[in-house]
Amino acid sequence: MREQLAALEQEALAAIQGTENLQTLEDLRVRFLGKKGEVTAILKQMGGLSPEERPQIGQLANALSETLTAALGVRREVLEAKSLDERLSREKLDITIPGQRLAVGKQHVMMKTLDEALDIFIGMGFSIAEGPEVELAANNFDKLNIAEGHPSRDWGDTFYFDADSAYALRPQTSPVQVRVMESQKPPIRVVSPGRVYRKDEVDATHSPMFHQIEGLVVDKGVTMADLKGTLNALIGQLYGEGTKTRFRPHFFPFTEPSCEVDCQCFKCRGAGCPMCKGEGWIELLGSGMVHPNVLRNCGIDPEIYSGFAFGMGLERMTMMRYNISDLRLIFENDLRFLRQF
Ligand SMILES: [Zn+2]
Repeated sequence: MREQLAALEQEALAAIQGTENLQTLEDLRVRFLGKKGEVTAILKQMGGLSPEERPQIGQLANALSETLTAALGVRREVLEAKSLDERLSREKLDITIPGQRLAVGKQHVMMKTLDEALDIFIGMGFSIAEGPEVELAANNFDKLNIAEGHPSRDWGDTFYFDADSAYALRPQTSPVQVRVMESQKPPIRVVSPGRVYRKDEVDATHSPMFHQIEGLVVDKGVTMADLKGTLNALIGQLYGEGTKTRFRPHFFPFTEPSCEVDCQCFKCRGAGCPMCKGEGWIELLGSGMVHPNVLRNCGIDPEIYSGFAFGMGLERMTMMRYNISDLRLIFENDLRFLRQF
């Protein structure tokens, strides 16, 4: 039995020294010192020993337990230190590695133009009004003095959302003006920016969806002089103080009289260049005095109040401001293009 214990000691110490990880070490502890372990198994055979031998073997067995416990403890410390070293070297933080660059977005060139324009309008005392893109056909057309069958209804006749043709995509932001006039009492001074939809094929200057910004002023005694003064101030701030403007007679169903407004080409100052197609003038916006029928349709008495309205395409404004030759670039979202602004 002494030999058995001696052999077991040798085997156990060799196994403990040879193990490389903590789990195996724990398995060895159970195998040798556990309740069903090998040392215990030997002790159980002691019943067959003589009374003289029993205490001696018992002592040897206890000594073996202590030796193995000590060996396990030493090996555990070694392995724990080793695993800590490994973890430290694995999780090493190298503060000299360059940081990750955070990509910061920027405003889209058209939204930049819109913000600039809105700033100017707010400075002139306008407030901002918004409305739905799917709009009552009555607000899109009828109340704006565009009766069923009117030729100017054609380009805005796009998508209807119901069998009765009561709802359609708005072809301009003018229905927002209808909503404002129906819900507010004059004096009214609003601008309404937003998306509009038309029957246009996509090319360098057209898109079936684009953005407009429209303005409306209604008050007592508003005249064409107020319209000209307001638009001259706007164009001066957008394209430089003293930019010459030209008001050409035009027809819109919802204004009377109506005019288109040109500004002197800010590239060539009127001499003629590719930007203005050699004309020296650039068409900027449409405007006019609100038609009495429109005021009446919206519950405002044209005998007491008068007003003017104007509208322009935001894409076109952006193209002129930043010298962009193709409208499609604004929607294609090519970052190489957008990053320039
Ligand atoms: Zn020019």
